[in-house]
Amino acid sequence: MSEERSLNFIEHIIEEDLKQGYSKSDLCFRFPPEPNGYLHIGHASSICLNFGLGLKYQAPVNLRFDDTNPSKEEQEFVDAIKADISWLGFNWANECYASDYFQQLYDWAVEMITEGKAYVDSQSSETIANQKGTPNSPGVESPFRNRPIAESLALFQKMKEGKVPEGQHVLRAKIDMASPNMLMRDPVMYRVMHKHHHRTGTDWKIFPMYDWTHGESDYLEQVSHSFCTLEFLPHRELYDWFLDQVYDPKKLRPKQREFARRNLSHTVVSKRKLLKLVQDKVVKGWDDPRMPTISGLRRRGYTPNSIRNFADSIGVGKRENLIDVSHLEFCAREDLNQKAPRVMVVLDPVKLVITNYPVGKTEWLEAENNPEDENAGYRKVPFSKELYIERDDFMEEANRKFFRLSLGKEVRLKNAYIIQGERLVKDEEGNILEIHCTYDADSKSGSGTEASLRKVKGTLHWVSVKEALSVEVRMYDRLFTEPSPDTHKEKDFMEFINPNSLEVITGYAEPSLEGAAPGDHFQFQRLGYFVVDSDSTAGHKVFNRTVPLRDSWAKISEE
Ligand code: ATP
Ligand code: MG
Repeated sequence: MSEERSLNFIEHIIEEDLKQGYSKSDLCFRFPPEPNGYLHIGHASSICLNFGLGLKYQAPVNLRFDDTNPSKEEQEFVDAIKADISWLGFNWANECYASDYFQQLYDWAVEMITEGKAYVDSQSSETIANQKGTPNSPGVESPFRNRPIAESLALFQKMKEGKVPEGQHVLRAKIDMASPNMLMRDPVMYRVMHKHHHRTGTDWKIFPMYDWTHGESDYLEQVSHSFCTLEFLPHRELYDWFLDQVYDPKKLRPKQREFARRNLSHTVVSKRKLLKLVQDKVVKGWDDPRMPTISGLRRRGYTPNSIRNFADSIGVGKRENLIDVSHLEFCAREDLNQKAPRVMVVLDPVKLVITNYPVGKTEWLEAENNPEDENAGYRKVPFSKELYIERDDFMEEANRKFFRLSLGKEVRLKNAYIIQGERLVKDEEGNILEIHCTYDADSKSGSGTEASLRKVKGTLHWVSVKEALSVEVRMYDRLFTEPSPDTHKEKDFMEFINPNSLEVITGYAEPSLEGAAPGDHFQFQRLGYFVVDSDSTAGHKVFNRTVPLRDSWAKISEE
């Protein structure tokens, strides 16, 4: 976080509280994921916000799993969430689970029933929903609202003991069926669920609802500021009401404050929708490199820095908006440009034969690993009579603006020599099989000769045919064709899936890539940033394209 940046509205809230009597040691934050899926780029905003505040104010940040719905939650998701946050480089103070508070929550609920603040309702969920009323008209009180306290206590006990089938009773807070805030109209606190929970097993047959759980968990952990997304704004009144029931004035009282959800273009950021993509096999899993999940982005080749910079640069806001995915791509390029070693790989090869170069000779030429990093050093790349260059780096009918190779024109081969196009070898259909050229033996890069200093307009990357490593390259594109696939009025987001989001090709790489390991990042010169995929084996390297070198779909141009 840069020091010069002005405070965002969340920081203003904290600064104001510090002025009004909070001490710095009171500050405590949390990130509260539900373990019902993998984290996505939207969560990264919330993670960077909360953990960023922790760093800024030297305050603890808890990782709290909001695990109150056993039908959707799994240990696999807990593990993946922890791995992703650690990978982003954040450390949580405590690993907490709402399920650890089930007994305390239950005890409080019993107290509330005893005090006439909660009651067991024995109506169906449909009936309860129908009685809710509308924002302009009050709801209808349940006939069970004033049932004797002892009866509610006994029924709640039976619910807890698993003696009640699902759906028969619920526990409701007794607030106000005429409240202008619909959420205050006797909200459900507990439902019966006979499901296996990933942590509490079959111990609990009743599960607390989000609103009842969240604020009380914040209170138990003494979280000072509980930041959530804007859709919870109307829940704040209920958050406070529930706190009122248990609050001890000697303790710190958490406050809920809201910020806008961050959406990313050309994708969906909702675990439910991402789960559908996984279940329908549109993608190969939660960590498919096309997924906007943290694990997908990691596999795609995004770095923790690029994601943190992205989240910090869009900041926190009060209004929802759609961030263009090109901004995320920009952040990846910016970071990888500093870190990724440069290598030469040809993705769409055509053979280049240097007619005046000796047969059988191989020169090992010095190549700079990263001009952005003076400690990155040099490597050797083999040069010989037969090379591959990109097919579209040659044009037979070139106009004056084409600075790459054509017949009779000179270009430089990167780290090597200046060559001149001479003639073409074609098949019967006129396809180019080979481009023949001559080289200027005095023009070797870095040799300092007059010929080497000659200015030529274009520089091409290349690989030597004999030493080339054939590699699998997965070229990824946007998963959806529409910027905002899930806000369409008539169409389902699944209708906007880009059928061409993955193209698998064979590329030819310089032999230095032989030793590359999964997770290693590279800049394929003039093409983009690529990362070694975990599908790679000793004899078969697989690369994922993270991002093209320049903005998507922009033509590969000259260096
Ligand atoms: P989803 O709809 O994808 O399941 P969620 O909000 O239900 O999202 P949680 O696991 O409950 O997911 O979220 C954990 C935290 O991350 C919450 O504080 C939530 O507000 C925040 N969060 C989730 N999505 C976004 C987003 N797109 N932008 C900013 N914060 C988000
Ligand atoms: Mg959720």
